[in-house]
Amino acid sequence: MVDSLVAASHELAAALGLEKREARLEARVLAAFAWNVSPAWLIAHDTDPLNDTHVAAFEALVSRRLEGVPIAYLVGAREFYGRPFLVSPDVLIPRPDTELLVERALACMPPGQAMAVLDLGTGSGCIATTLALERPLARVTAVDRSPAALAIAQRNTDILNARVEFLTSDWFASLASRRFDLIVSNPPYIAAADPHLARGDVRFEPLSALAAGQDGLDDLRRLSRTACAHLKPGGTLLLEHGYDQSDAVQALLRESGIRLPQSWADLSGILRVSGGALSE
Ligand code: GLN
Repeated sequence: MVDSLVAASHELAAALGLEKREARLEARVLAAFAWNVSPAWLIAHDTDPLNDTHVAAFEALVSRRLEGVPIAYLVGAREFYGRPFLVSPDVLIPRPDTELLVERALACMPPGQAMAVLDLGTGSGCIATTLALERPLARVTAVDRSPAALAIAQRNTDILNARVEFLTSDWFASLASRRFDLIVSNPPYIAAADPHLARGDVRFEPLSALAAGQDGLDDLRRLSRTACAHLKPGGTLLLEHGYDQSDAVQALLRESGIRLPQSWADLSGILRVSGGALSE
């Protein structure tokens, strides 16, 4: 078995430009998934011979990975905030950057309060589900305009036993005059011509969850324009955005009526989330 893993990790490193360590890890993740065994089992059994069925299952996965298909789509899951979430090509793959948005949201959600929270463009549902699980008293609503995404999000809340209300809605379109204590969103924010969209995992993700017009701000503009009409007095709006968009987003927030918007840095030191509260 060890020979197959080594051969696959060399191929992965060469085709995807991965570091050796990363390529070995990917080969192990794909093998564990193909053979339905744990990574620990692979280590304990690394000298076992492989039968043809095992070889074929592993090679099929490796060849899709060599084409660039993200690992998360191949194994159908990605961890977010310490919990596993199902993913498919209908949804963006949860990113560690977005854990900052969750942390900022939790900081606005005292555990004893039954706050009304809205997640716009929920995708896999990772933000809404995490908030609902971390704050069981919260009443979390999540919207997405994609029914396929909502189906995945619903499955995630079912599996993780969270309580979230899902609605099909293009941003605020189906929310009538409902108001919330906290609104969060990780909208698309990449400029349409950004070469980043043609590289790596991103190529396989839904473009509608990534790209937002010429400057990447189309959806952030729409969201900040309408959000305050859906916030209760004193309510908070928190938006994830691109590495160079914090000034622009703060300006949008100020125009929309958010008092003293702030930005927060992610683990790489990039200002990744901006937000603030509506005047009382
Ligand atoms: N942070 C993601 C990326 O750069 C984009 C996520 C988004 O557009 N919301 O790949």
